[in-house]
Parts: sequence; structure tokens; C-alpha cells
Amino acid sequence: STQILLASRPAGWPSEENFEVRTVELPAMADGQVRVRNEFISVDPYMRGRMNDTRSYVAPYQIGERIAGGAVGRVVASAAQQLPVGTLVTHQHGWSDTVQAAAETFTPVPEIPGVPSSLRLHMMGMTGLTAWVGLTVVAGMKEGDTVFISGAAGAVGTAAGQIARLLGAKRVIGSAGSPEKVELLTQKYGYDAAFNYKDGDVAGQLAAMAPEGIDVFFDNVGGEHLEAALGAFNDGGRAALCGAISSYNTTQAPVGPRNMANLITRGLKLQGFTLSNYLQHAPEFGQRMGQWFTEGKIAYDETIVDGIENTVEAFIAMMQGANTGKMLVRI
Ligand code: NDP
Repeated sequence: STQILLASRPAGWPSEENFEVRTVELPAMADGQVRVRNEFISVDPYMRGRMNDTRSYVAPYQIGERIAGGAVGRVVASAAQQLPVGTLVTHQHGWSDTVQAAAETFTPVPEIPGVPSSLRLHMMGMTGLTAWVGLTVVAGMKEGDTVFISGAAGAVGTAAGQIARLLGAKRVIGSAGSPEKVELLTQKYGYDAAFNYKDGDVAGQLAAMAPEGIDVFFDNVGGEHLEAALGAFNDGGRAALCGAISSYNTTQAPVGPRNMANLITRGLKLQGFTLSNYLQHAPEFGQRMGQWFTEGKIAYDETIVDGIENTVEAFIAMMQGANTGKMLVRI
């Protein structure tokens, strides 16, 4: 099994030196274990936080430890009745090509014709559920709302834009970091308007695209985007604070929004959330998303990097914006 371990804690942007690629011989199978050959592994922004030794909602990775995280694969050897060879499973064992562990640590997933296994790591998995929970539960999005989504062309963002549209948003506005992504948002993902935040003046661009203001903000980015949204909010606006990727790789503290008083004058509600506290919404989401998907209403993109040994490169590239939709490593 080839695995990727944390070798040292990155300061600012991570680099290959912060990781070690190690190949180990897997032990003989013990009773109750299965061996899984991964098909795809996920690289996610939250993993950057776990590389720091700071308090967060999940414990930091330890030096010398395999990077844990989402993956999907198939059982290739089984000493557990409930997971026979050939079963498709998702799990959290993370960055390795093959894993062997107790059967209970794997979740079998139904194989739906026309649904590639990789979708279990995004549109029909964690990032899709994050978008659903953020919009419907945290921000309480209603039909007729104008919704602004930052980081709109990424895995969570492409799901959030489509869900907002399908739930009857009046107007969906997105921001992303390249002209190609901006075009994709309006051409493929049903956004009414989109802008490139790298052109600057995020507040001005947002105001121009939301002449009647925004009601819901789904934030993946933080910083300047959050300040812009606070300026664009209508009375009673709600934000689901999902991520703040603009500050994950910086060494200075992020700039706080200078217009927090708008919360008072406009009666705004900002709520942060982490998916781990909302997993009870997975069945409802699975049903809705499955239905939309089979009706052909869901588009998606994947940016795929091949080979376990290129996982670190994929992870860094994702945070630099190389991905459209979900960044995945194919094993
Ligand atoms: P993405 O697929 O969106 O990939 C990350 C993207 O972030 C890049 O493609 C890049 O796109 C963008 N980005 C990087 N730096 C900046 C910057 N300085 N300003 C603006 N955009 C930037 O990742 P995910 O969909 O997996 O995650 C999106 C967000 O959701 C993250 O903040 C993540 O932490 C959060 N998240 C939160 C969860 C929760 O439970 N709260 C669960 C899952 C994700 P571009 O080219 O547009 O710059």
C-alpha cells in the first residue's frame, strides 16, 4: 500500500517537503477486516486546517500519520461477511491506494446505473450535502430569495448554485477566480450572473450584479467576499458561513469585515457550520439529489489528477484554483 503521511507542519502554503510518500506491506487479513482498493480519493480545503496544530472541529493530523479523508473504492479481499469482495464503499482512511481495516469503518454505497463512483465524493456525497445543509438548514433559503455564492465554481459552489436554482431562487449570483469559470457558472450551472473576484472591487462587482440586494449568502471564501455580502444584504439577510479559503494559506490574520454594524441595522443573521453536526440531513439530501440527478437536472465537473504519488500536487493545485468542480485523485 502506498500512503501519504504528514512529515512536517506547513507554515503558509504547503509544499511537497511537508509530506512523505511511503510504501508498506499490508499485514495478513484479520477476522472482520476488509481490504479496499481505492478508485478515487478526495483532496479538500479543510485538510489544510488539520495540518496546523491548532484547535478546530477535528483533531489535527499528527506528524508521521497518514492524511485521513474521504475516498471511494472497492473491496478486493474480505474477512467480513457484510462486505463481500466487489462491494463499493466510501470511507475516511484517506490518502492511500489500498487500505485494510475493520469492516465497520467502511460504508457500502448502492451502485446506481449512470452514477460514477467518484460522485460519492462530491455531488452525491460530502460537498453536495454541505451545499444542501448550508442553503436549506443554516441560511433558511426560501423560494424567491436572491442568493450569492462565493467560490462558486468549486465542488461545494457548483452544488450550491444548482440547488439554489432548483429550490426556486429568484436570482443566483456567483464569484470565481477565472474568466473561464465565470462563463461556466452562467452557461452550465444556472447562475444568473457571475464575476471574477480577481478583477478586484468585489463589493462593487457584487452590487452591480445584485441591484435589488441579496437575501442569502453562501460563503466559501471569507474576507473581502464577506464584507461585500454584508454591504449587499437586504433587511433580514442570512449567511451560511461554510468556509474561508482566502485565509487558509496566509500567515497573517485575515482582515475582518469593516461593516459589521450592518448586522444591526439590517437585522442580519450570520451562522457558521460544519457538516459533521448536520449529518442527520444526509438521507433527505440523498433522496432529493438522487431524484434531481436521474431527472438530468444536475451538472458537474471533475478535475482529475492520476496516481497516489501526485496527491499532494493535486491538493495544492486545488487550493490555487486549478480545479473546476471537484478535485479528485484517481488511483
Ligand atoms: P473547491 O472545490 O471550491 O476548491 C477550492 C477553491 O477555492 C479553488 O478552486 C479556488 O477557486 C478557490 N480559492 C482559493 N483561494 C481563494 C481565494 N483567496 N479567494 C477566493 N477563492 C479562492 O473546494 P470545496 O468545494 O471542497 O470547498 C469549498 C469551501 O467549502 C472551502 O472553504 C471549504 O473549507 C468549505 N467546506 C466546508 C465544509 C463545512 O462543513 N463547513 C465542508 C466542505 C467544504 P477560484 O479559482 O475560484 O479561486
